[in-house]
Amino acid sequence: MRDKNKTSRSRENGFTGKSDSWFDEERYNRPKLNANFDEAKQHDYYYNSYSSHHIHEEMLKDSNRTLAYQRAIEGNPEDFKDKVVLDIGCGTGILSIFAARAGAKHVYAIDNAEIALFAKEIIHDNNLSDKITVIKGKIEEVDLPFKEGEIDIIVSEWMGYFLLYESMLDCVLWARDKFLNKETGKMLPDRATMYVAAIEDAEYMGEKTQFWKNVYGVNMSCMTNGIFVDPMVDTVPSSNIMSDSCCILDLDLVHMKPGDVEFANCYSLKMQYTDKVHALVAWFDTSFANLTRPTVLTTSPMKKYTHWK
Ligand code: SAH
Repeated sequence: MRDKNKTSRSRENGFTGKSDSWFDEERYNRPKLNANFDEAKQHDYYYNSYSSHHIHEEMLKDSNRTLAYQRAIEGNPEDFKDKVVLDIGCGTGILSIFAARAGAKHVYAIDNAEIALFAKEIIHDNNLSDKITVIKGKIEEVDLPFKEGEIDIIVSEWMGYFLLYESMLDCVLWARDKFLNKETGKMLPDRATMYVAAIEDAEYMGEKTQFWKNVYGVNMSCMTNGIFVDPMVDTVPSSNIMSDSCCILDLDLVHMKPGDVEFANCYSLKMQYTDKVHALVAWFDTSFANLTRPTVLTTSPMKKYTHWK
């Protein structure tokens, strides 16, 4: 079943708002309790959406996503022991907490949305305030209490729809080039790949067109013009896949340049049976390869549901 009522994880409008560069180490060393979202309204749409509970609840409940990060981090204490970790876009602080529990020397957790205040409180309530410093602001604008090249590991969950749609990858790459130790630094994840496959879905297309023919007794058929032109974000039952898959993008997150996301590629798909191809489905995997126990987060329609659909 397609879950059409799921909240979209919108990353629209990128990072165009003003930064709150009011980070003050002394103030942050004192826990601020009873966090709230009162100041959220000052943000643009992008950070405002990350200042609400709902989007963080949705991400945390996406157990395939969150458990993949937990496997990569807490499943690899050898890689985290005594390391300085930077969590870009910490949200509730979950990845920072995994890193602290995996034995990191210190974790810097940064988020520009009001959720940073809750991260601070969550970290305090879990007795990790001495291990994790929360900083509220945009990574590329805020004053940071560490030096260039001082970070051993960058963790970030930056992926948007179609991997790159309105994603925050450019900020992560900017921080990588400035703060990550050039010789020994690690990126988590360190590789991202995108795939396409052909699908047939007459039923879905029929439903969409049928709906507009009779909306409470009103003929709105003209609304169907162009409805299949824009990409759709939805789940695809694996039984609808009618071809093999083809990798269309392979990003090495340790070495890539920001411009590498502008891509064009050829692909060929081998059909498994003859039918009409109604659409192409695209998905991504991210790998945590350079670890003692490597792992992968997949959003493939052949695997379990994620909030990327
Ligand atoms: N790490 C958390 C949240 C991931 S969502 C988790 O895994 O659950 C991405 C977060 O990045 C959002 O909370 C958003 O506000 C933050 N963010 C995006 N761009 C940012 C930037 N340039 N600087 C700081 N935070 C940023």
